[in-house]
Amino acid sequence: MKQVVLKNYMETLLLEKLDEVIDKLDCCKCEKCRMDILSYALNRLPPKYVATYEGQVYSKLDTLSLQYETDLMCALYQAAEVVREHPHHDLTSEEPK
Ligand SMILES: [Zn+2]
Repeated sequence: MKQVVLKNYMETLLLEKLDEVIDKLDCCKCEKCRMDILSYALNRLPPKYVATYEGQVYSKLDTLSLQYETDLMCALYQAAEVVREHPHHDLTSEEPK
C-alpha cells in the first residue's frame, strides 16, 4: 500500500528558484548556506501543504497566484542577503568544540 505523505509545496518552489537567486546575488553555494537561505525563507512564508503519495511527482499547483510568487522571490532575496552577510558555514578548518 502506498504511503500518503504531507509535503510543503513552498519548499519545492523555493528549491526551484534557489540557485537563480544565489547566482544573482553571488552568494556562497555550499550546502550549509543553501539550506540556511532555504530555511530562512521558509520560516517567513506561509506553508503550502499538499497530500501526495510517496514518491509521486505532482504537477504544479495552478492555484498559486502571482502574489505568492512575488512574496516567494522577495523572501528568497532577503534570505540570500542575510546569509551572504552572515554565513554560518565553517570559516576555518578548526574542529568544532
Ligand atoms: Zn557557505
